[in-house]
Amino acid sequence: MVIGVILYFHGFTLTSVVLKSTHKYPYFVIAVIAVMFTACSPKGRYAATNLVYKHKADSFAKVVQLQQPAMLKDSSGMAVPSDWVGTVNFGIRKPNYVIIHFTAQDSLEQTLRTFTVTHTGTSAHYVVAKSGKVVHMVNDYLRANHAGVGKWGSVTDMNSISIGIEIDNNGDEPYTDAQINSLIALLGRLKTAYAIPTANFIGHEDFAPKRKPDPGPFFPWKKMAQHGFGLWSDEVLEVAPENFDYVTALRLIGYDVSDLNSAIIAFKRHFVQTDIKGKLTQLDLNILYNVYQKY
Ligand SMILES: [Zn+2]
Repeated sequence: MVIGVILYFHGFTLTSVVLKSTHKYPYFVIAVIAVMFTACSPKGRYAATNLVYKHKADSFAKVVQLQQPAMLKDSSGMAVPSDWVGTVNFGIRKPNYVIIHFTAQDSLEQTLRTFTVTHTGTSAHYVVAKSGKVVHMVNDYLRANHAGVGKWGSVTDMNSISIGIEIDNNGDEPYTDAQINSLIALLGRLKTAYAIPTANFIGHEDFAPKRKPDPGPFFPWKKMAQHGFGLWSDEVLEVAPENFDYVTALRLIGYDVSDLNSAIIAFKRHFVQTDIKGKLTQLDLNILYNVYQKY
């Protein structure tokens, strides 16, 4: 263990010294080296991008330390008198939504690569692997590029107020039990840490119905709702009234109804799941009538 720790901190140069001085136990040393380098390889592999992350985070820390008055001009172009006085009562802004995604990729490795090269421009706070492993990629207090253009209620800049969670899933397969178990643990921690309202656990498909299909009908929203993450319809449904204004109901839940067909499909991907056609059946209307009253 001691040899392993030495190797970890001092790298290859010291490795050769240790090998020469311990030839009584060459197999042991080689085994330790193999274990240590295997265990440390992910850190080494992303060392460069971890450094970029640190530099960016450092630059953001400088931004929040700025103490300067607002530089304003009135309608005649005259400077508005201003000053800076630091209050003693303040905190750091917290996320208030969680957006669930599927990666639409084939492996955790592929997703990690996507999020560690600049040309994609995308990222998420967390990635949940099929094994259940949770990879944290952006501090919860910082803004990840996961939600993009969309609208939920009156929220348009969702990235600024949300945590993005990507689940390793190609978009056409069930999620693994390990992923769902890990996700429930992660959502529980986030909900408690940031007091995120139950209704504010939604999918990318809900926020951006014109563009995004994730996390799709395979995602177990009912199970999530049973754990307090997102809302779900009751077992026994009242029949929706004949004059039920379903467009307003969709809008009150949060959907952008400017493209009604997309909003209906998004609603059905989330709350119906067994049929995702862009037409509301009587059952869909009953579910919508039940769900919207919870918002
Ligand atoms: Zn997404």
